[in-house]
Amino acid sequence: MSIEGIATIRYLTTTSFGFGASALLGEVLTELEIARPLVVTDPGVRAAGIADRVIADGEVTWFDRTPPNPTEAAVLEATEMFRMAACDGIVAIGGGSSIDLAKGVALMATHSGPLRSYAAVSGGVELITAHVARTVAIPTTAGTGSEVGRAAMINVAGRKLDFMSPHLFPARALCDPALTLDLPPFLTAATGMDALTHCLETYLSPLVNPPAEAIALDGVRRAARWIERATTDGHDREARWNMMMASTEGALTFQKGLGAVHAMAHPLGALEDLPLHHGTLNAVLLPAVLRFNEPAAPEKYERLRQVIGAGPDVDLAGWVADLNARLGLPPGLAAMGVPPDVLSRVADDAERDPATETNARPATRADYEELLRASMGD
Ligand SMILES: [Zn+2]
Repeated sequence: MSIEGIATIRYLTTTSFGFGASALLGEVLTELEIARPLVVTDPGVRAAGIADRVIADGEVTWFDRTPPNPTEAAVLEATEMFRMAACDGIVAIGGGSSIDLAKGVALMATHSGPLRSYAAVSGGVELITAHVARTVAIPTTAGTGSEVGRAAMINVAGRKLDFMSPHLFPARALCDPALTLDLPPFLTAATGMDALTHCLETYLSPLVNPPAEAIALDGVRRAARWIERATTDGHDREARWNMMMASTEGALTFQKGLGAVHAMAHPLGALEDLPLHHGTLNAVLLPAVLRFNEPAAPEKYERLRQVIGAGPDVDLAGWVADLNARLGLPPGLAAMGVPPDVLSRVADDAERDPATETNARPATRADYEELLRASMGD
């Protein structure tokens, strides 16, 4: 298969995928009849010149202050700019945070009432209508796959809330691996482990969805094969292409449901005063969860070993821990600065997280507390 050329993939979000795909933005905006977009990005992507390269010309309004974990305050600030400039659509350029924040703006620019009333946990799914502002998503990392996902995670009053609706799918995604060529090794590894975790958790989810499982297995195969190369040689185009595909596949498949890794990563990512990277959290939590889940899905573990090219005796949890070490990721939550006294509260929130419902093996609050302690790594 060639990595040259741009493929058109119509799954849920029409996606233009390939080196140079971001240059299609002008055409796509014309097609969607968006004349005055709000461009949502973060300070790092702006400073690196990536966003300005993609937005070569045209009348745009910038919101370039997306925080590492999107917050309600940032969504409201960007929504105000959208209204003031009479914008008619959104272009999100960045990692999952910018794309999730853009989904929050797409919602709040067109719906009334407080943001929290649209959270999935308070029955908001039904309240989000097709009236949302249209968004073109252009990822600059290969991890969340938010460009083809229907969910946004936004911190509201210290809790990471899930906003979910078929209307939150971006109208178009432009996946251009060229935008990831200069992503530093640590971020490449951490975001790549997020993509791998999406594929693993979705594949292990007990819901019935064979097409999603086929996508998940393909994503596991690509991420396992290419994550180290992308991390050690960022300019390897084939590695970048494959990691971006694994990321997109991760989000295409996770409508089948995630699991305990994400159930814990969400509350950990919402801890105030301790900005923890979502992908790094997943990488660190994955080994303990894989160990915990194995008795519930032995055949699937067999299949996973085949897909990553490991022998029948390989312990998947150990394989992930070794991979983390080779990628230079931290050995546990303690090394990330997580204090032991928050674990009990995180376990409470993990048990209530929607991702718990689709974990391969039912996990209680006590199980979460044990998984968190096992993931401290000290
Ligand atoms: Zn994730």
